[in-house]
Order: sequence, then C-alpha cells, then structure tokens
Amino acid sequence: MSKIVVGNLKMSLTKHQVEDYVSIINKEKFENVDLILCPSFIHILMFNSKNYSVGAQNVFYEQLGPYTGEISAMQLKEIGVNYVIIGHSERRTIFNETNSIINKKINACLDNNIKVILCIGENKEQKDSNETSNVLKKQIEEALYGIKSSNLQNIIIAYEPVYSIGTGNALTKDEIKSNILYIKSIINNNFNSDCKVIYGGSVNKENANDIIDVCDGIMVGKMSNDAKEFIKLLSIVNM
Ligand code: PEP
Repeated sequence: MSKIVVGNLKMSLTKHQVEDYVSIINKEKFENVDLILCPSFIHILMFNSKNYSVGAQNVFYEQLGPYTGEISAMQLKEIGVNYVIIGHSERRTIFNETNSIINKKINACLDNNIKVILCIGENKEQKDSNETSNVLKKQIEEALYGIKSSNLQNIIIAYEPVYSIGTGNALTKDEIKSNILYIKSIINNNFNSDCKVIYGGSVNKENANDIIDVCDGIMVGKMSNDAKEFIKLLSIVNM
C-alpha cells in the first residue's frame, strides 16, 4: 500500500533554489509514494509535474473580500492546489491560531474540494505533565467539530509532537505507534470512520523505515528542502 509523504518546504527556498529543486524532483516518480509538495504560495505554480500533488502551507477561511494579505481556498483551488496544511505548530505558536480558527479553515477547504492535512501534537511541557492524550483529543475534537464523517476521507491527520520538529529528535517507533493508534481510536469513536494518520518530526533517512511501519506516512520539513537528499528519503519509503 502506498505511503503518504508530505514535503513541507516552509519559507526556506528562494526562487532560484526552487527552479533547481523542481528540475531535480520532476525527473523522479515513486510508485509506492503519494507525494505532496507544499511550497510557499508564490512558488506553487512552479511545481508542475503529475508525479506529485501540490499543497499550500496555509489558507484563510473567507472566500473573497477585504482581507489584505490573505489567500482563500477558492483562490488556491483555481490554481490547482489539492491540499492545504492546516494548524502547523508554527502557525499555532507564532500566529496564535486556535482550534476554532483551524476549524473554519478546514471547512473552507472542504467546501472548495481541497484536502486537508491537519497538524496536531503536544508540546514538551504537556508531554512531561502526562497531558498528551488530553491535548490530542481536544485538538482533534475542536478542529473537526461539525465535520461530516464522509469528509474524513479528505483529511489526513499529521501527528507532529512540537518538541520533535526541527530538533533531530524523532519519537521512538513505539511512542509513535501508540500515539497514532490513540488518534485513530478518537476518530473511530467520534466519527465511526477511518482516517489516514501520518507522523512528522525529525524524520530522516535513518529512521524513516521504522516510522512508516507504524503509520500511513510522514511529514518532512528540513529533509525535504534539499531535493537530492529528499529523493534518497523517498526511495527508502518507496521500497
Ligand atoms: C514540520 O515542520 O512539519 C516537520 C516535520 O519538520 P522537520 O522534519 O524539520 O522536523
């Protein structure tokens, strides 16, 4: 069964770097990987191969109107975007995104036939005080409040423990497995439906094989920024 790999390019590349990146990545095709590349808004149209899907890293929940600096789901759909990352921990912490804002963004995407990659995850303090389960449950229930079960097929949950992102310290296979199973159980209990759940947080060539064994795929930040290195990682997942 194919594994999902989301490349979160964040705000890391210049236009010239993206030109190089695209010329390298467009030559590759991975039969067993559903690759979703998420560049900065301004680079989206440079990603033009059928070998992957293109996602955005954010969206605003209104459709059109006086919202200076924002981009809507309708506008993203018009230019061929099929996925949006919503609720990344960088947006929750730096831009104060709440579960209620995240819920509005999810609805806007689903209304415009865009699939959602919903990021959830506890921070270090919450983990140390044994609050992980409560935090994950609250994030899921509030973000997905009012969403129809039939829409769960259009949502990928990315479990991304905050203390693991960009630190080089991925969770162990056992920790990932138990938290992914827990997330799936909440979805099953609340929606009587399945949902793809992937892991993100310092995935690299060394740990990828173990991690994909216990989840539906991975979300990759740093390691996706260098096309040649990312291709090596994708080849491991593809096996
Ligand atoms: C991320 O920011 O979503 C992420 C997974 O980052 P990294 O792979 O660098 O930990």
